[in-house]
Amino acid sequence: MPAEFPEFRLGTVLATSFTATLTERRGDAIERIPTPQRLVDWLTVSGLAVNSCTTAQLALARELRESIHAAATATALHEALPTPAVRVINDRSLQGRAAAVLTPEGTRRWHLNSATEVADALGVIAADAISIIAGERDGRMALCASPTCQAAFFDTSQSRTRRWCDMNTCGNRQKKARFNAGRRKNAEG
Ligand SMILES: [Zn+2]
Repeated sequence: MPAEFPEFRLGTVLATSFTATLTERRGDAIERIPTPQRLVDWLTVSGLAVNSCTTAQLALARELRESIHAAATATALHEALPTPAVRVINDRSLQGRAAAVLTPEGTRRWHLNSATEVADALGVIAADAISIIAGERDGRMALCASPTCQAAFFDTSQSRTRRWCDMNTCGNRQKKARFNAGRRKNAEG
């Protein structure tokens, strides 16, 4: 993996792991799938391995990503879902032909058809987004408390009080900022 590409931020929820391929949307945005090959890499580590991807497919993927982000943000804010975003999510879901298969070990694997593998993979992501936006799964849609991030994430904590999309990045940064602010105050006083 070439060092110049930003690393992925992988979570446990497929749809919001996917929206996290663009981070710091309200600051200096970091595009984590800048090339078709990086989308291939992301799909591979996310259990949706494909052989290749075109620039047009990358554009479709990013359109789906931003549509999920918009719909998930509206859900977190208890606002009406944006119609264009809903249309894109539904289109990608309708075009996917992936099938869930059970492995001998009792885990689920997605079978993608070789001729339509990228569309199938995007269909799985769209369906995952639909299930969390529709409130079918145990959890709560929330927005990251970091002002430069505000990513939509799916809070499955018992208390439903998770504040950051990612504890190791946004959470940590916030804690450090508070610590430094406290130190400055002490130095002034
Ligand atoms: Zn965040």
